[in-house]
Amino acid sequence: MARGFPGGIHPLSHKSATADIPSETCPLPDELVIPLAQHVGSPASVCVLAGQRVTRGQTIGRANGFVSVPVHAPTSGLVTAVEPRPHPCGAQLLAVVLQPDGDDAWGEEYLGQGFHVLTVEAMLERIREAGVVGMGGAAFPTHVKLDPPEGKPIDTVIVNAAECEPWLTADRRTLLEQLEKVLTGVEVLQKILNARHLWIGLEDNQPDTAQRLASRCRQRGIKLAVLPARYPQGAERQLIYAITGRRVPARGLPMDVGVLVQNVGTVAALTDAVTRGRPLIERMVTVAGGCVEKPRNLRTRIGTPVAHLLAYCGLRDAPAKVIMGGPMMGAAQHSLAVPVLRGTSGVLAFRREDLVDGQPGPCVRCGRCVAVCPMHLLPTYIADYARRDELALAERFAARNCIECGSCSYACPARIPLVQSIRYAKGAILARRRRS
Ligand code: SF4
Ligand code: SF4
Repeated sequence: MARGFPGGIHPLSHKSATADIPSETCPLPDELVIPLAQHVGSPASVCVLAGQRVTRGQTIGRANGFVSVPVHAPTSGLVTAVEPRPHPCGAQLLAVVLQPDGDDAWGEEYLGQGFHVLTVEAMLERIREAGVVGMGGAAFPTHVKLDPPEGKPIDTVIVNAAECEPWLTADRRTLLEQLEKVLTGVEVLQKILNARHLWIGLEDNQPDTAQRLASRCRQRGIKLAVLPARYPQGAERQLIYAITGRRVPARGLPMDVGVLVQNVGTVAALTDAVTRGRPLIERMVTVAGGCVEKPRNLRTRIGTPVAHLLAYCGLRDAPAKVIMGGPMMGAAQHSLAVPVLRGTSGVLAFRREDLVDGQPGPCVRCGRCVAVCPMHLLPTYIADYARRDELALAERFAARNCIECGSCSYACPARIPLVQSIRYAKGAILARRRRS
């Protein structure tokens, strides 16, 4: 146990700004923008019209196939439009625009119900109907992960609380403030999968959380793995290896080695789904960065515009860069009108002086990118092939195995944007395969 993983980096954590501040509820904005596409798989199909009134938790988009989930109204109010709006992916995508009416009451169907009497199928159905997806950023539908194919039994469940991205503390606050909900969620997962080994994995930079968890976990038969803080400790493969010693094949999935990993927020959300029939309409979001006056964690309704979060926390200056997610794997935003999605763990706003300046230089062959790569790749070669569009060579050097953690770019003294080039190569290789 706690065997670490190859490579990795130690970026400044910047977590002290928000780690010990209790979360707050973000006030409702004047307008919520709820995209139909906020998960891996087919976008939901809209099932409301402009001019229609909806209750909190009402389905406004139906799931579109097995790898899809429904979308719900985050509060009660009036649907003012169903139209394309700016999406964090950079495109304009179809969204339901909702004007809150201030009532905010749950619809009648969302009353508390016990779960111990439910069948596995009924629990999976509730998780699907609640729109639960991976809240660590991947946004993969949870009911699909919990229903592995024949011949892929899962004996180990790991709750991923190894929040290794700098600045982000949303998972920490969720774990501390919603501990009982998380522990019940582990029980639900155990019941669904009949798993024998239950783990919560977190980094050793939060000893207070580990101490608080220790006895509660023991009582529930859950083991606690306190791992050395190192990025990307929270990446699925690295976490699985550190805790179980099992290696997920390069192009394989955790279920190939009998493991399921779920983010802390997801586990809390599936408890709400199974025990109360409540859909995923709110999540913890870290709002931080050098530009933010009062950094904190906000319990935020899905669809809240980033501009509203930043205005609530206050800005020191006009931000030079806004990132959704963490600084290592998050995505820079082109507009503050983009909404918080189910997979949005953080909104970070930076001033110009917070950003790394300077043009990339030539490779000095120092090998640091190779030393830090947790996937044993040769980032400098792959990035070079990508820049020259030599995709066959990039593929031969296993570009597709890259988990896009950004450790290589971070470590490079020449500031070569390695991960951006490798990401391009991965996309181009996949596009070429689809065409052929
Ligand atoms: S090549 Fe990919 S996996 Fe390796 S360090 Fe760079 S971004 Fe991470
Ligand atoms: S870290 Fe940068 S400079 Fe060093 S070998 Fe890799 S690409 Fe070249």
